[in-house]
Parts: sequence; C-alpha cells; structure tokens
Amino acid sequence: MELVCLDLEGVLVPEIWINFAKKVGIKELEATTRDIPDYDVLMTQRLRILREHNLGLPDIQAVIADMGPFEGAREFVEWVRTHFQLIILSDTFYEFAHPLMRQLGWPTIFCHKLESDANGMITDYKLRQPDQKRQAVKALHGLNFRVIAAGDSYNDTTMLGEADHGFLFDAPANVIAEFPQFEALHGYEALKQKIREVSQRDIPN
Ligand SMILES: [Mg+2]
Repeated sequence: MELVCLDLEGVLVPEIWINFAKKVGIKELEATTRDIPDYDVLMTQRLRILREHNLGLPDIQAVIADMGPFEGAREFVEWVRTHFQLIILSDTFYEFAHPLMRQLGWPTIFCHKLESDANGMITDYKLRQPDQKRQAVKALHGLNFRVIAAGDSYNDTTMLGEADHGFLFDAPANVIAEFPQFEALHGYEALKQKIREVSQRDIPN
C-alpha cells in the first residue's frame, strides 16, 4: 500500500505569511525564520503585529482565501487522490489552511493550531509535535504504508529522508545544492511522472 505526502506552502499554495504581509501591506510581517531564527520569537512578534493592526482570524482568512492555490494545483491534487491516498504535511496552522483546503477540494492535512479569543484575535499557537512531518511518515511506516513525499524547503528534508521516495519540488537553488541526495523536480507534470515511475503499481497517466 502506498501513500503520497505533500508539503503545502511552496508546493500547492504560495507562502502564506509572506503573501499575507504583502496583501495587507505590513512590511514587518514579512520576516521569516531566515530573519528571526527562533521560531517562538518570530511567532510572538507576528501575533503582536496582527493584534496591533486589529487583524482577527476572519480578516486573515479572507485575505488567505483570496490568495488561492497555484495554477494547476487543484488538478494535480485530484490526480494524486484518484490513484493514491494523499496527506498534506504542513507547518502552517489549520485556521490558515482552511480557506485554501476548500479550494483544493478538502484533502487531508496534518498541521498546527492557533488559539483565538471571542473577538477572533489570535492569542497563541500550538505546535502539534516537533519534527511532525518526519514523525507522520514514521507513523505511516508503522501502519505498513510505503510513502512517496515531496516538499520545497528545509522543513521538508527530514520527511523526504524518512520517506521511501522523497523529492524536492520547485525548491530554491540553495536548498537543491544543500540536499543533493533528493532529486529536484520542477512542475506538476514532472512530479506526476516521477510518482508514476516510483510507484509499485501501474498508474495511468
Ligand atoms: Mg514549503
């Protein structure tokens, strides 16, 4: 039995924080783990900025919904789900992913969680477990599934290493150079053909 695990941001949808920051025009929100390596410091800052701009979860979700998935993502997800079971493994939050999952036809996603108050203001965030993408693949192996995985960045590499077949998808050049053990693919058609190639079953085009 085989499963496909895909990263979300950078693979099926744009980077949520960066694009949200651009859409609402708040420069300070464009900071990522590259600028502030301590994730807790970064998230605490993001939540403070959202509160200062009086941006609650419904406002944020409306902006995210407007971003939409990448062109061709919905069709690609449909193709994968026709032939495999798909689990999206993401380090975003359920509340942010929700409007995008609707546009992708509600695939299964494992990610993290936000807490908000009665006014919709985000008060805290809860990471479900550390290194959760890798832990998910390990758990699927424990259930006797073979796993084919693809992702675009540093937070995917332990998942790709744990999977039976792991691919970098539309990854930046520095990630490709740093992780030559993972084949780098570009575009949904290339990923589709690679999934067919490594699958133990005969998958129609
Ligand atoms: Mg990503």
